[in-house]
Amino acid sequence: MKRGSRASLDKLFSHVGPRLLVRGGFFLFFVYISSRLLAFRAWALGQGPFVERPEAVAGLLPIGSYMSFFLWLKNGWFDPVLPAGIVIIIGALTTSLIFKRGFCGWICPVGSVWEAAAWLGRKVLHRDNYRPPRWLDIALRSVRYVLAAALMVWLAAVSIQEATSFQQLPYYATVDVKMILLFFTPVYMLVIAAAFIGMMLFGNVWCRYLCPLGGVYGACSTLSPTTIVRDADLCIDCGKCARSCHAAIAVDTLRSVRHAECDGCQDCVRACPVPGALEPRLLGRFRFPWWVWPIAVVVLWMLIYTVAVVTGNWHSQLPVETFRAYMQIPGL
Ligand code: SF4
Ligand code: SF4
Repeated sequence: MKRGSRASLDKLFSHVGPRLLVRGGFFLFFVYISSRLLAFRAWALGQGPFVERPEAVAGLLPIGSYMSFFLWLKNGWFDPVLPAGIVIIIGALTTSLIFKRGFCGWICPVGSVWEAAAWLGRKVLHRDNYRPPRWLDIALRSVRYVLAAALMVWLAAVSIQEATSFQQLPYYATVDVKMILLFFTPVYMLVIAAAFIGMMLFGNVWCRYLCPLGGVYGACSTLSPTTIVRDADLCIDCGKCARSCHAAIAVDTLRSVRHAECDGCQDCVRACPVPGALEPRLLGRFRFPWWVWPIAVVVLWMLIYTVAVVTGNWHSQLPVETFRAYMQIPGL
């Protein structure tokens, strides 16, 4: 890429922020589909006109979706009730296998909220988010991998019979609505507000130490053929890359970032003042501009979605009248 074009792109993104653009877009989409699901519920309860049920809200249910995912791996049964949940998992795993933790870095709406909190904390308090000492940071980070392993083993151990029975429950088909409604209850709003303030002070603790799915994607990401590579001959050892890394990776001392914490955010590459000293590469050899990374993540994501739609694996096979009947069950 010509240096002039790179400078123009960097100037544009220094104002807008590439992650704000991409993650913000996914977050707004998530808010939109949540509102559509509530409108669908209103129709089901006879309180509004019909709107189509948005399938992507299945992403709200990672536990049930992973259970369905393992069921599919075991016996080929593709969940007919909330199939989009399996597709979203396939998307997140594929993205992680090819573009580090690209799902965490560029797509996940939950991570976007906590990262926004951490950013707001830095701006409001005029100081960096608090970071624990290195030994404690490593110990805490390992918690996430323990949680991830325990969760995956537990879900994979669910028997075929139990998993298929669970999929047939009215509760399973309507749990996404319940999740969204829960967010509006006073207790949950208080918990979310407290967590938001906590992240303002301590940074994105959820993604860094707690999210078990981040642990799964981090483990997959160690196989990624795309990485950030530093050219030691060009590097001037200014340390700007390491200081800009939200995952606290010592990028300035590495030849190649194989770290499971790297989500491919490209902040280090964009901070590097020496053209060519720090670049994303495929298989450690083939260089490409940093902005190709998020575009490739989004394209891959859309490709997986399109294949799922075309092959009939995105939309629920449950008739809307069945969803409607389930939503009218008192207490559900
Ligand atoms: S700043 Fe660089 S090393 Fe750190 S997470 Fe982002 S891409 Fe990975
Ligand atoms: S920002 Fe670039 S030049 Fe500075 S230490 Fe990192 S790789 Fe080297």
